[in-house]
Amino acid sequence: MTATLGTFPQDWMTTGAARQVYRALERAGGTPRFVGGCVRDGLLGRRIRDIDIATPLEPAAVIKAAEAAGLKHAPTGIDHGTVTVIAEHTGIEVTTLRRDVETFGRHATVAFTDDWREDAGRRDLTMNALSADADGKVYDYFDGIADLKAGRVRFVGAPEDRMREDYLRILRYFRFHADYASGDFDPPALDAARALKAELKSLSGERLRQETLKLLVARRGVETWRAMLAEGIVAAFLPPGTTIDRMAKVAALESRLKVPQDPVRRLAALTVTGAGPAVAETLKLSNAERDRVIAVSAARPEFAMGDAHLVRREIYDLGNALALDLLLTDWAEPEVDARRAFEIVRDWPRPELPAKGRDVSALGVPAGPEIGRILKELEDWWIAGDFAPDRAQCIAELKRRIGGKR
Ligand code: ATP
Ligand code: MG
Repeated sequence: MTATLGTFPQDWMTTGAARQVYRALERAGGTPRFVGGCVRDGLLGRRIRDIDIATPLEPAAVIKAAEAAGLKHAPTGIDHGTVTVIAEHTGIEVTTLRRDVETFGRHATVAFTDDWREDAGRRDLTMNALSADADGKVYDYFDGIADLKAGRVRFVGAPEDRMREDYLRILRYFRFHADYASGDFDPPALDAARALKAELKSLSGERLRQETLKLLVARRGVETWRAMLAEGIVAAFLPPGTTIDRMAKVAALESRLKVPQDPVRRLAALTVTGAGPAVAETLKLSNAERDRVIAVSAARPEFAMGDAHLVRREIYDLGNALALDLLLTDWAEPEVDARRAFEIVRDWPRPELPAKGRDVSALGVPAGPEIGRILKELEDWWIAGDFAPDRAQCIAELKRRIGGKR
């Protein structure tokens, strides 16, 4: 399958923030070029996510160039030569050309260079090593264009060497394969990934997390995860027993029901019962992500979807977001049809009890535990009434209950 590539320059290069930053560098003699994902995705006609610019100027000179143009900047990754320059409230990452000199399988120590080919050579994949200037000229030192057209995801250089320099490239390879390849795995890359998979454990949780979440929502993510599972790549960094079927069904449900793809929900669906805490630890998940993964993958009763009232009770207990996670995950089990329950979770926002403690006080109940107790009873009554009583009805019920006790 051969893709037809778009032409440059495109609007995102010649307008807005990118133009301002590009011009600022140009005026300082920085001969800037667009690099990485924006060039790759621009050529494919895909939506550009973020814009990266490279320049032979060293970071101090990039900062001077930004200031001379009246642009704000932030030293986001100054160790590897990256300065974020801000124009029109958009940050553009400007990175000094570099070559990697020393590597520890984690982070490369860098040396700056003014050689564009050298900078392209330290990038992982041929399609990620393209650069382009604002006149529309594309620079392609490693046959990235041909690979992009053919849907071939290939390393710059020998895959095994490149993976040894940074083991995250094992997972990046699978992610880019899932997002950009039209055919099978590149055999040398797959062999290298097999040989080096045990090294995935040496990566930081933060880097594993970022790459894993991206892989979970990649285009051909499901089939790529299946292959990774078969090759033992998944077991090399996630707990044993991880299987793909439930995640695949959740992914299919998301697309069928037009629910936005959610990498954390997919991760939760992938997680074997009880392994939530281990997954959260391995991937250094945020607290909110951790809570979701644990809640979904815990040993727990099935999401109650027998009738509308039960579904509303679940929503009231869990909130709509977690209810959706649990419902979709359980729907992935055979023999479950949760269509009606899904519509309720989607369309019925969790309500709040329409009366508060101060309403109880206003009826003469003195401050103390009695207020909470009365409110709890009112809540039970309100839930039993399927959340239908409105505020006036709740206040009337409170009066009846309090009056009856005095
Ligand atoms: P996306 O932003 O869609 O994930 P991208 O290609 O922009 O894709 P980034 O992670 O933003 O990816 O990195 C920008 C560029 O930096 C890449 O295109 C690649 O050239 C290079 N790069 C990033 N990470 C690595 C790595 N671990 N090894 C080698 N090159 C890398
Ligand atoms: Mg990017």
